[in-house]
Amino acid sequence: MKYTKQDIMRLAEEEDVEFIRLQFTDMFGNLKNMAITFSQLEKALDNKCMFDGSSIEGFDGLGEADMYLYPDLDTMAIFPWRPQQGKVARMICDIHRSNGESFEGDPRFILKKVIKEAADMGYTFDVGPECEFFLYHTDDNGQPTTITHEKAGYFDLGPMDLGENARRDMVLTLEEMGFEVEASYHETAPAQHEIDFRYNEALDTADNIMTFKLAVKTIAKRHGLHATFMPKPKSGINGSGMHTNMSLSKNGKNVFYDEKDPLGLSQEAYYFIGGLMKHIKGMTAITNPLVNSYKRLVPGYEAPVYIAWSAVNRSPLIRIPSGREESTRIELRCPDSASNPYLVLAVCLAAGMDGIRNKITPPAGIDKNIFAMTAEERVKEGIQTLPDNLSKAVEEMEKDGLIRQVLGERMFEAYTRAKKEEWAQYSQQVSEWETQQYLYRI
Ligand code: GLN
Ligand code: MG
Ligand code: MG
Ligand code: MG
Repeated sequence: MKYTKQDIMRLAEEEDVEFIRLQFTDMFGNLKNMAITFSQLEKALDNKCMFDGSSIEGFDGLGEADMYLYPDLDTMAIFPWRPQQGKVARMICDIHRSNGESFEGDPRFILKKVIKEAADMGYTFDVGPECEFFLYHTDDNGQPTTITHEKAGYFDLGPMDLGENARRDMVLTLEEMGFEVEASYHETAPAQHEIDFRYNEALDTADNIMTFKLAVKTIAKRHGLHATFMPKPKSGINGSGMHTNMSLSKNGKNVFYDEKDPLGLSQEAYYFIGGLMKHIKGMTAITNPLVNSYKRLVPGYEAPVYIAWSAVNRSPLIRIPSGREESTRIELRCPDSASNPYLVLAVCLAAGMDGIRNKITPPAGIDKNIFAMTAEERVKEGIQTLPDNLSKAVEEMEKDGLIRQVLGERMFEAYTRAKKEEWAQYSQQVSEWETQQYLYRI
């Protein structure tokens, strides 16, 4: 624990904080908040701030309407982009019922539950994400477009990289908010960027991803740009992923490393990979939650399609980056930033821990380019494919008892119902592609 109630009161006073945003995340990964003024801060710190949960996506029908926000004091942060007199701060909150119980539909609660189970076995889960996004122009009405004037590619710099100044501002803002930014650069596609911040314990990382997206969008807007984390805003070029680097530690030591293994990986690391591979199909509707997510997971754009792992090749779903000892980690490459980071990390940890508990040995690593293999070769190697649309992903999710258990019955129901509805709506659309292909010809 970093802060006490008294610390927060003093900090707010010293820093001239006028507004405090009490934040939480809904089932679909949307950041929500309620603002209070300094006069209400003490009440908020006593967990007495209430809101009507019935209009929040995924909460409705899940419980009573009256919900309480319990601020996590350690998440206190000041928004550097708001006025510096009468500052605006935020705290990320847990959601509780009026009887004091944790609300089981709160994604942060779901992640905490899985973290606790791992902690009971002595494990700490560390995660470092790599969030990619596009910076596009807005139109005369301020609406986002997919228009960009730049043609820069991987690692290019200004003046070709027109997002350079915006990205610089994003990095500085994140640093002001306590992020340790490790790298930032122009990604492969025009107007595509990546900013990587240092790994942290899973709950902090999930909180950080939410803050990251807010900061990136806010600063982009200041530069007259629209930042989008949409997984595949345009066909024909790379989409945006959120590669997720994971490791487990015990007593402060990374347990994925074993110097005696030829690949430098421990038995726990292999089992963790085994668990991920066993559950990945059932997890995909969480890691890749949108109809659009599946337009990214196609061959040819550096995104994963096939269920395989490798310590050598970059093409598989699971990659073991070259760092060893304390940097030994497993990189899962399918998640995208449209996902709810709390739920993503919850299912990743649960799947990996299932691997460890039940000693699930993964198949042999595939060290060649899977995209260059024929379908027959893949079958021979036993390489399966990720669900290739949201509907199939939901079907797989419904077959996976572990994922159901992690989300809890009511969240599972609400999530699958909403995703089926999203698919049904999408399926009934007549797209521009269809009219272009068929209208004149048929
Ligand atoms: N943009 C790619 C993806 O969709 C990743 C590219 C990279 O970071 N190597 O996952
Ligand atoms: Mg990267
Ligand atoms: Mg990248
Ligand atoms: Mg990566």
